[in-house]
Amino acid sequence: SLLCLWAAFTEADNMKYKDPKQPLNVRIRDLMNRMTLEEKIGQMTQIERKLASPEVMKKYFIGSVLSGGGSVPAPKASAEAWVNMVNEFQNGALSSRLGIPMIYGVDAVHGHNNVYKATIFPHNVGLGVTRDPDLLKRIGAATALEVRATGIPYAFAPCIAVCRDPRWGRCYESYSEDHKIVQAMTEIIPGLQGDLPTNSSSHGVPFVAVGKTKVAGCAKHFVGDGGTINGIDENNTVIDYKGLMSIHMPAYFDSVKKGIATIMVSYSSWNGEKMHANQALVTGFLKNKLKFRGFVISDWQGIDRITDPPHANYSYSVQAGILAGIDMIMLPENFEEFINDLNFQVQNKIIPMSRIDDAVRRILRVKFVMGLFENPIADLSLIDKLGNQEHRDLAREAVRKSLVLLKNGKSANQPLLPLLKKQPKILVAGTHADNLGYQCGGWTIEWQGVDGNDLTEGTTILAAVKKTVDPSTEVIYSANPDPDFVKTKGFSSAIVVVGEVPYAETFGDSKNLSIAEPGPTTIKNVCGAVKCVVVVVSGRPVVIEPYLEQIDALVAAWLPGSEGGPGLTDALFGDYGFTGKLARTWFRSVDQLPMNVGDAHYDPLFAFGFGLTTKARHEN
Ligand code: BGC
Repeated sequence: SLLCLWAAFTEADNMKYKDPKQPLNVRIRDLMNRMTLEEKIGQMTQIERKLASPEVMKKYFIGSVLSGGGSVPAPKASAEAWVNMVNEFQNGALSSRLGIPMIYGVDAVHGHNNVYKATIFPHNVGLGVTRDPDLLKRIGAATALEVRATGIPYAFAPCIAVCRDPRWGRCYESYSEDHKIVQAMTEIIPGLQGDLPTNSSSHGVPFVAVGKTKVAGCAKHFVGDGGTINGIDENNTVIDYKGLMSIHMPAYFDSVKKGIATIMVSYSSWNGEKMHANQALVTGFLKNKLKFRGFVISDWQGIDRITDPPHANYSYSVQAGILAGIDMIMLPENFEEFINDLNFQVQNKIIPMSRIDDAVRRILRVKFVMGLFENPIADLSLIDKLGNQEHRDLAREAVRKSLVLLKNGKSANQPLLPLLKKQPKILVAGTHADNLGYQCGGWTIEWQGVDGNDLTEGTTILAAVKKTVDPSTEVIYSANPDPDFVKTKGFSSAIVVVGEVPYAETFGDSKNLSIAEPGPTTIKNVCGAVKCVVVVVSGRPVVIEPYLEQIDALVAAWLPGSEGGPGLTDALFGDYGFTGKLARTWFRSVDQLPMNVGDAHYDPLFAFGFGLTTKARHEN
């Protein structure tokens, strides 16, 4: 029994993976040496929340859980409820044989957008306008705090797509049509994950996301997602190697340099080959050439969609995806089928064990570096960070820097903006003036976004106008006033807010890019009768040329989020100046598309880089 005691002691003593003082590589190697094939495949398995339970976590050694766009907790679930849910799954994972923590991931793509009360930042299309890396870093840090406040250590952001065609339903997830702007905006990564340590090679690790206030990020979607033909979502990007490397790849160089922890593969194809099966780019380029050391994650059903129709030959898809170099598989359903299939293919040497080991090593590396082994269970200490005033002020700053003033007055010497705070009677009109859901857009509480004001906390444009004007100024709101109403009421000016209604992904693909009805009518009815500023709330440039004549002033507000109201009125009423410059080309008509800066036949309505400026009133 002495021998037994000695053996037990040595065993405990050798649990090197549990010892934070051991070098990273020693911990990884020690843990991997203990793992069975089942445990390794479990690490590669990311299941949707609705499939998860403590029992499932334990039984299948599940490595990760996500709240996907298609399935989110009840809209008003509290932060505490989120923490409890995550901890419950985590406890299940920790109770498995080796007690490897799982990592929970969520689409926090403009703030912690699944969660009630979180600060909703402008979508990327607006942030690109700011061209302000420091702002992006601060937004990343704020987002990380809010995500962590709900017990979640992993965000599927940033989207570093270079949207080359606004007909794409995900164009608003892209910072710009210009890769240089997208590259600059990757500064959100050190905000989310933390700065790389100056002596980052203590364990030879070129990325870091440590501590309880940071999250692992995910650059997506690798690669060429924004270049698909006619902007059709998940479609084919037809471009030569040089074009791919010079337009769609550069932001990945920056992301890897800045230590991005994970990278998500794109649904799209490159020259006819599905990215989820592209070994040359995922393994050859990303892992071997760029030396990316985090893990590669599939997109939702990305493996299934390798075949057309999806799931037509699942074994083939699993094989192609894993051999391409995907390390973690996002599984909204049928995760047992995946586990069994992969197990079979490894047992039968169709997929080599070395490929599994590469995947698991990368996943464990991220978990170790993040400190998940030491701190797997979330507490409630950050809960008051969710939607706090400091973050809302930051979002408001982002909104006003993201606005682009496209027209100001019918002639240059008669500017309409800034508006006076004290004037007799302002008309606020348009479907988008009093709709928080519209100004937040897709990926807000629900995948496709929400219509209305009670989705979360925030300030609409109408509410902000009322708050900003002098108490003596009358503010009248009408979503779609008829012309007689406008003529007889004697308004001193009008703010007309129109745009797109929320959408996400494929559902946002559009051939006509028009302003939602009755927006054009509202513009006509109001602008014909009173001096008007038209504010466009949209995820991309929309058709505006036919109405431009009637409009006195025009502002692109993009999808400004929960602080869209105050951020807009800051500039409209002159507390701040307009500074934004288009990070996208504003086309005249859709038959010009695709049309990007640098193209041979470039005839935009408003060119890339255009934007009028005003001074804050106190500067005048
Ligand atoms: C999207 C990803 C997202 C994932 C999880 C997919 O449909 O393409 O961007 O991260 O869903 O919600």
